[in-house]
Order: sequence, then structure tokens, then C-alpha cells
Amino acid sequence: MADEICPCGGARGFEACCGRFLADGGEAGTPEELMRSRYSAFVRGELGYLLSTHHPSTRSPQLVSGLEETLRTARWIGLRVVAWGMEKGREDRGWVEFVAFQAGPGFDQIHERSRFFRADGKWQYVDGTHLPDVTLDRNGPCVCGSGRKWKKCHGGWPGA
Ligand SMILES: [Zn+2]
Ligand SMILES: [Zn+2]
Repeated sequence: MADEICPCGGARGFEACCGRFLADGGEAGTPEELMRSRYSAFVRGELGYLLSTHHPSTRSPQLVSGLEETLRTARWIGLRVVAWGMEKGREDRGWVEFVAFQAGPGFDQIHERSRFFRADGKWQYVDGTHLPDVTLDRNGPCVCGSGRKWKKCHGGWPGA
């Protein structure tokens, strides 16, 4: 298991990447690390981690049922972090722009700019703004990491 690839697509294996936070209870040092670990938690069905990394102001019964529904239905196939940064002059507020890809039943993507706040040293997800779908290069590599061309892999799926 030591060399298991991290679901977030990071260059390191799971244990050295998001596993530090998911399995070992470590705390993400940047908004990007937290965002990646939350994506990995979605892939691995770790509801407890998703809830504990939501900002307290956003926790509600609807949040729990919404997350449960997403964990039941979505099949995540890849993540791209487009950019991330800190709000000007703030050490405790950051943002991450990313695209998360899913397949099942059809192909879909979520392009979002998320906001993260840090309280008591812990980064937490606050909310996100949806952005227009990104266009994928038909001859580029598929977002799922199969090594095949997009058009020959998930690019042929309904919704793609
Ligand atoms: Zn990772
Ligand atoms: Zn693919």
C-alpha cells in the first residue's frame, strides 16, 4: 500500500500526500493541501473528514445529506488544481481554483474557486463559486490518468 497513487493526482504516493491528513490526522499546511485532501476524501468516501474540514458556519443537516448523496452517486476520476493563493494581506484566508472530473453515469466536471479560512491553525472549506466548464484538448491526455488520449478515453462519454 505504501506506493499507492494518491487519488488527488499529486506526484507522491497516498501516504506521503493526502494520507498524512486523512489517515494520520495531520493538518494541512496550505489551502491547496486541504483542497486536495478533501478531494481524496470524496474518492475514498470519508464523510467524517469532509465534515471536520467544513467551516463550522457551513455545517447543517442539509450539508450532511448533501455530502452523503454525493458520496453515493459520484465517481471521481481526476483532479486538476488550476491555481491557489492567499487573500491579500491575510494569513488565515485562502482560495483554490480547481476542476474535479467525474464519470458516472455520464462525464461531468466541477470547475470551482473555493474559499478556505484558517481557525486555530486548521484550514477549513467555506464555500465555492462555480466557474464555466473548461475545454479539454481532444488529443491531450485524459483527465483520468489512463495515459490514453482524451478523445479515446472519457472524452467519448456522454456529457463530455
Ligand atoms: Zn493527494
Ligand atoms: Zn479517461
